[in-house]
Amino acid sequence: MQSARFLRAMPEGSPVVSARIPGTRLEFCPPVGYTLSMVDSHGRNIEYLRLSLTERCNLRCVYCRDRDLSRPESPLSAAQMERILRAMVSLGINRVRLTGGEPLLCADLEQIVAAANAIPRISDLAMTTNGQLLAYRAAGLKRAGLMRINISLDSLRADRYRDITGGGNVSQVLTGIDAALTCGLTPVKLNCVVIRGVNDNEINDFIALAREQALTVRFIELMPLGGIRDDSRRVSTEEILISHGGGLVEIPPAYSGQPAREYTGPGFRGAVGFISAMSRRFCTECNRIRVTSDGKLRPCLGDNREIDLRESLSQGEDALREAIRIGVYRKPGGHHFSGAFESPRKMNRIGG
Ligand code: SAM
Repeated sequence: MQSARFLRAMPEGSPVVSARIPGTRLEFCPPVGYTLSMVDSHGRNIEYLRLSLTERCNLRCVYCRDRDLSRPESPLSAAQMERILRAMVSLGINRVRLTGGEPLLCADLEQIVAAANAIPRISDLAMTTNGQLLAYRAAGLKRAGLMRINISLDSLRADRYRDITGGGNVSQVLTGIDAALTCGLTPVKLNCVVIRGVNDNEINDFIALAREQALTVRFIELMPLGGIRDDSRRVSTEEILISHGGGLVEIPPAYSGQPAREYTGPGFRGAVGFISAMSRRFCTECNRIRVTSDGKLRPCLGDNREIDLRESLSQGEDALREAIRIGVYRKPGGHHFSGAFESPRKMNRIGG
């Protein structure tokens, strides 16, 4: 029966309230004190939201951006984002990552973090950033309730980093990483998209960083969501493990649906992770959805179907929750990256 899909657990003898099943006339009675959970039509329990705060970015990473930078953004307000967050959490989301674009470009980021942190049942509140502006704000973000941080870093060499990112300053990222470690935004994870002929000769340097520092370096397989469409530029996880993985030992996943396979080695202070969306799809375990900064619920990164939450925002909380449930229920079984997939939105406008 469809109603069972929306229940996490139902012990007997509990007091009940009723709720409507989206797309049906059925009523069912979850026990008070038990949260509804969102299970999609493929049986996956959706509990992780990536919320994009802005599509603006202070970098121009070659693999990420639209060429057209002129499109005017019409972002949700911080109050609308909070309403979406609260609706999501009431339905079963318990992990949230703030992303973009570049979230550190938002002047009211600390307020958004504090508002998210005040919502009960969010057990994990994280952010992904390019780290350019992190040093100045890491401590304040920690105070506002941010728990941990992922920082993108595709090269340790100043000139190469500048080329990949269209003008970024690698020293500022390194200072930001120190600030994050110092103020306890941990575990700090570094995201490195490996591109053949660009930064693949730095893989050993990144592994050495994980040996020396208490952080996780994650090698990400290039996805066809930005300016590089040539599959031969992608360096697969297997390739990295075969050429550079000697002595690394796999760590059991910390939680179900963890997209990264993580490894460590003798004498390592940190860990090495692999996000292999292309060579080792994790769609059957995918537990995440995205909301873009202009209010579109995007249930799958590699599928262009989106649901506009703006209209439901204007119709009230029930309509908002209904729209979210329907979007989640229709989450596709898997991404379409291996076909002739083309996304009108590139990564910076979706939220990575
Ligand atoms: N501006 C922030 C940053 O740079 O981390 C957050 C947004 S960025 C879109 C989030 C993550 O997506 C980054 O770690 C980036 O490396 C990753 N990313 C962007 N385009 C990608 C692509 N085509 N393939 C794989 N990862 C990508």
